[in-house]
Amino acid sequence: QEGLEKTRSGFLDKISKTLVGKDKVDDEVLDDLEEVLITSDVGVKTTLEVIRRIEERVARDKYVSSSELQNILREEITDLLIENEPGRPAEFDADLSNKPHVIMVVGVNGVGKTTTIGKLSHMYKEAGKNVMLGAGDTFRAGAVEQLKIWSERAGVTLIQQGQGADPAAVAFDTVASAKSKGADVVLVDTAGRLHNRKALMSELGKIKRVMGKVVEGAPHEVLLVLDASTGQNAMQQAKAFTEVVDVTGLALTKLDGTAKGGIVIGISHEMSVPVKYIGVGEKIEDLQVFERAGFVNALFS
Ligand code: GDP
Repeated sequence: QEGLEKTRSGFLDKISKTLVGKDKVDDEVLDDLEEVLITSDVGVKTTLEVIRRIEERVARDKYVSSSELQNILREEITDLLIENEPGRPAEFDADLSNKPHVIMVVGVNGVGKTTTIGKLSHMYKEAGKNVMLGAGDTFRAGAVEQLKIWSERAGVTLIQQGQGADPAAVAFDTVASAKSKGADVVLVDTAGRLHNRKALMSELGKIKRVMGKVVEGAPHEVLLVLDASTGQNAMQQAKAFTEVVDVTGLALTKLDGTAKGGIVIGISHEMSVPVKYIGVGEKIEDLQVFERAGFVNALFS
């Protein structure tokens, strides 16, 4: 996967440095590795798990050379990452027997939520799908306008009611309109007021319920957008959101601008939620479907 140059150099260079002048994995190497993982934002819990697994291998095989360490690390990181359902969403063959496929997008302001919705619209459209957007962030000034710009860029229809409207009403309208027009995919934006969890929980709950009334099983996906460059802050947001709504997938943005892409590994493992997309730039095509093998290859090549 491209766009991960910074993450790769941050990660691999630091690991290589811990191994300079070492021919075998000992306590000192493991201590250094632990520090590299923590400073790459893998997260304490996941770091300790990785170290524990390597210690186990060292204990079992007695002698592990430092050149083998990279392979072991690669295997363990692959194992910790959750694989997306095969064939989905990579080929965009979402189950359309029950159209539209509804994706509710959540996340706090500034993480790249609007941009990600724009990029996803483009991606689905390029895959030949008929896409409709719902401007459900009626709280933040400018959110609807910004989404409108992205909808025009992607060439998809936006359903809006303006600032201050009831977000559940917008969601209802969007899904109902998509259903009647035979649209394939619906993306609904939502407000991310994390400082008021009770209000957020009730708002997101209501949006979910009304969608489910129009299309059985909707929303089919609750996608949480997180800014990977904020490291442990993103981890905190992930925890907070998973407490208020059933998050089914993650989109990690701004991975092009950070050397701390370790967050991808930690967050997937700690939240038990798969990373589905990664954002690697500001342009409409700078979104990639997350692939476990591709990501690990990019880290270690
Ligand atoms: P929102 O408030 O969550 O809707 O955030 P926006 O979508 O408006 O994005 C906030 C800023 O982050 C904008 O300047 C975007 O161009 C930028 N941005 C979003 N995704 C990415 C990404 O993957 N890489 C980079 N470098 N910038 C991004």
